[in-house]
Amino acid sequence: MAPDSNTGTELSARGRRSPKETTTLDQADDFGCEGFCEDCDRIHSLPVGQARFYAENLMREFECIQRLDYLANPTEAQPRLSFHRLFPRGRGHMFGVLECQNQQGERVVLRAFSSLHDGIREVEGWVPPLLSAENFFGTVLPAQKVILELTEEIKAEPLGSNSYQDLLLERKAVSQELLQTMQALYRFHNFRGEARGLKDAFLGSGRIPGGVGECCAPKLLNHAVLHKLKPLGIAEFYWGGVSASGKRRSGQFYSACASRCEPVLGFMLCGLDHVE
Ligand SMILES: [Zn+2]
Ligand SMILES: [Zn+2]
Repeated sequence: MAPDSNTGTELSARGRRSPKETTTLDQADDFGCEGFCEDCDRIHSLPVGQARFYAENLMREFECIQRLDYLANPTEAQPRLSFHRLFPRGRGHMFGVLECQNQQGERVVLRAFSSLHDGIREVEGWVPPLLSAENFFGTVLPAQKVILELTEEIKAEPLGSNSYQDLLLERKAVSQELLQTMQALYRFHNFRGEARGLKDAFLGSGRIPGGVGECCAPKLLNHAVLHKLKPLGIAEFYWGGVSASGKRRSGQFYSACASRCEPVLGFMLCGLDHVE
């Protein structure tokens, strides 16, 4: 999970923005997204704009509907997509809204949920994940299954035995291979028409954390690029109960996370200023 302390206040306190940019932004509404772009040697950002209004509309819908498949008739709703089932023990989840303009100048509002467990990937009315279904079900899921099976085998072996150690090493090798494979499978697109794999799109320092590209902001922006939509504003909010740490609360807005999103957003937002 992203650090809960990543609020808008902290964002502006990190000091990468020039003073001029900081003063032009309304601090109370400073929950958009941003990232440093190495190519341009500057920060690219997207404000909240009207996305906040559309996010609030989505929250009103959530209050009534209480499920992810909001486009389905109540009789056809899938029990596994109900909030009750998705967020047990009073927990919640991150959601995002991207306000865009299409090439005809019409408003298009995209919605995203940050990635969920149980292979819940594509739900009508929400942007799809970056990783294609083919890659996920054909490559990632089988490897994840092997890791789970190895974990079960490890549990069955006497602690510290040779077979136990061998299985640990085998699991480590499978995990590392999967991580490498996944990093190669992800394609991040930007508004200059470029595409990069995770290793090149990630401009942060240090090890690349797991789950990059699975939050709302990258999913929304990637979808916008691929559908020739110009983003105007982005809003991400937490919905449901409280987060595990208790720091995120239902209905509150948060800026894109610093650990997994910000390092790719510099690349992804590049060229946005030039979209006509
Ligand atoms: Zn994130
Ligand atoms: Zn740039």
